[in-house]
Amino acid sequence: MSTFKAGGIALRSLNIREADRIVTFLTADGKLEAVAKGVRKPKSKFGGRLEPGNDLDLVLVRGRGLPTITGVEVRHLRPWIRLDLASLELTFNILEMADKFSVEASPDGRLLGITTAALDRLADEDRPALLRLAYDIKVLAVSGLMPQLKECVVCSGPAVDRFSAAGGGLVCANCQTDGQVIRTSAEVTRVIFEVLGRKFQELSDVNASEREIAAADKLVWAHIAYHVPARFRSRGIGGEKGISK
Ligand SMILES: [Zn+2]
Repeated sequence: MSTFKAGGIALRSLNIREADRIVTFLTADGKLEAVAKGVRKPKSKFGGRLEPGNDLDLVLVRGRGLPTITGVEVRHLRPWIRLDLASLELTFNILEMADKFSVEASPDGRLLGITTAALDRLADEDRPALLRLAYDIKVLAVSGLMPQLKECVVCSGPAVDRFSAAGGGLVCANCQTDGQVIRTSAEVTRVIFEVLGRKFQELSDVNASEREIAAADKLVWAHIAYHVPARFRSRGIGGEKGISK
């Protein structure tokens, strides 16, 4: 048995056996799953520290199966994420997105960085839909899954008002082969590039109407639902054809 340390954000947990739990973390070294023994007992030494959204320093022991957590220290508490239903919902959207886009033993400090920044921004953001959109787009960008929004994906000609999820980007009228396009606009594309280019703490400077944010969200989620084979429970999206996680 060997002891090791890891730090990261708790993403989700699954109850197992009578009092144990498997907790999934996002760390700088990728996704990490570990067992917390006795965590559901009233006098557990872990208390509520392993709750999703918390930023933790862990001590773990490697065994035959999943590693076991032997020590937990809170690095950063974010009490505001449970203050109201909207914050809680947004937190679960963010954590689920991080969960689906992280890979075990695949170092990705950028995903951890933007997830940390998004959760920290939550308390000050008065447009939750914009924060969620910004997070989703940044995750796509660091994952190499950003849709092509500068020109037609087929002929590289000018394209502005049709988006094809299957094609992975904008298509022009000549290259649209079926009716499966989402009507979009140059304004919606502008909003997407503007949030991509800004830090989370600069989101209040983004000039975007609720309608534009909703239209951008629709486009981004059509793209994710088509290209990511996972079910996003917190948004009720996906999973029809893909792998249900
Ligand atoms: Zn074209």
